[in-house]
Amino acid sequence: MRVEFLGGVRTVTGSATLLEKGSLKWLVDCGMFQGGEELEKRNWKIQPYQAQNLAFLLLTHAHIDHSGLIPRLVKEGFRGKIICTQATLDLCEVMLQDSGRIQEMEAEWQNRKGKRAGRGEAIPLYTAKDAEKSLRCFEPVSYDEIVPLAEGLKVRFRDAGHILGSAIIEIWVEEEGQERKLIFSGDLGNSHQPIVRDPSIVEEGEVLWLESTYGNRLHKSKEETVQELLKIVQEAIAHQAKVVIPAFAVERTQDIIYTLGQFIRRGALPPIPVYIDSPLAISATEIFKKNSDCFDRETQEILAGGDNPLDIPGIMFTRTTEESKAINEDSRPGVIVSASGMCDAGRIKHHLKHHLWREASHIVIIGYQAEGTVGRRIVDGAKTVRLFGEEIAVKAHIHTLGGFSAHADQKGLLDWVSHLRNPRLEIFVNHGEEKISVELSQLIRERFHFKTTVPEWREKRILFSEVEKGIPEREVEEELLPEEPLSVLLNRLDRTYKRLRRKLKREKKKGEDVSHPGWWRQLEEAQQKLEALEKEME
Ligand SMILES: [Zn+2]
Ligand SMILES: [Zn+2]
Repeated sequence: MRVEFLGGVRTVTGSATLLEKGSLKWLVDCGMFQGGEELEKRNWKIQPYQAQNLAFLLLTHAHIDHSGLIPRLVKEGFRGKIICTQATLDLCEVMLQDSGRIQEMEAEWQNRKGKRAGRGEAIPLYTAKDAEKSLRCFEPVSYDEIVPLAEGLKVRFRDAGHILGSAIIEIWVEEEGQERKLIFSGDLGNSHQPIVRDPSIVEEGEVLWLESTYGNRLHKSKEETVQELLKIVQEAIAHQAKVVIPAFAVERTQDIIYTLGQFIRRGALPPIPVYIDSPLAISATEIFKKNSDCFDRETQEILAGGDNPLDIPGIMFTRTTEESKAINEDSRPGVIVSASGMCDAGRIKHHLKHHLWREASHIVIIGYQAEGTVGRRIVDGAKTVRLFGEEIAVKAHIHTLGGFSAHADQKGLLDWVSHLRNPRLEIFVNHGEEKISVELSQLIRERFHFKTTVPEWREKRILFSEVEKGIPEREVEEELLPEEPLSVLLNRLDRTYKRLRRKLKREKKKGEDVSHPGWWRQLEEAQQKLEALEKEME
């Protein structure tokens, strides 16, 4: 069988692998590239994904770096099935539409800027409506159930313990009468994370795709982190101050709700106001409550005891802008959890503007802050940061807590790999910054003597039988692709033409002479060029 590494290699975003067995083609993950213009250009060039020829998309989990190009894939003709867990489907429903809205806003912004610079019209990668349409392709499966998908192809989703609904995917493929097994680790969770279970152990397999986000790092222990958070909130209460926590809407926000709830249930904290100020986080929290069968034992026990682990006394979910603004009028000590997690967008910016300059306030950073973000500047000790065009002094207490990570650290990854028994196992190390993937790859080779590779973007491989027949094992795709798919260009052409017609109509109404000889000539040239192209296509 053949594979092609389409994303999430030598970078953490854009996860996607194309697999082919005879004429049967399918993808594992279809993530969006994020982090800089150069990388994000790839989001527009997904012809190699072969949208129209795919029978399936196997989706490990709902994070946008794994699911974010699904609406685009459907727009380009994907008509297969998207297989994932029910919780992943539920989360995708809100996250993909949210992502569509962001794409629309982004295009709008580009257009405002572009008009001034005289550039052509920008169109969104996909819209909220496209995202909604793509939901029809989803088909949920249960954890641990072997599901036959096609002749000689079956899959099983195992709990990856990363976010709600996240999965490790096992794939069995029949090749010339022999059953072969592939494993996709997806994103592997940190053990002892709140709410979700620990990652499932896998022992058998021949080829493994292994994530390496934190392949070179060790997290602080969970217990230490939880105690640190408790101390911070206690201190804020003692000084009648607020704790502001920028958090990703999915999983991290719910982890914080759970942890604060535990403090209050156990009496370590009095019932204080806790504001969850992010519409996406609120929708995600509802989905968590609906999928309580995915919770770990500890969380199940809280449920069985009659408490809701995601509902704490004093919690306030603020959906509307008015409700959000009213938070500033509450002078009681309390906690505000808001998105985005890297302080670059969303309501968190308002809360930072309100609290960064107050000496008594506490800002608690719990997630990864990418280079260039406001969050990163705060963590790096900036004296002021710019928010809404204003320089805001940083006087509040700034804390960074590492133990809330939703990814296994180096030790976690090595422990998970140690359960694999096949001495001939081959591992593709992916989903990590290049340097980190290479480091983890070497470490695994030294420690377990497995064959490891850090694949290149668009590298193609032949697995199993054909290798034995002497067909070259590795070939890197060289062909250059056009900058944008044809459909984008055609859309743009349509819009330009319509604008032109409207303009001419307006001029005519004003009584202007529209038979300008220069215009006439230019339009005739365009007409001839299009006709020539039409002939060429015949
Ligand atoms: Zn993830
Ligand atoms: Zn990921």
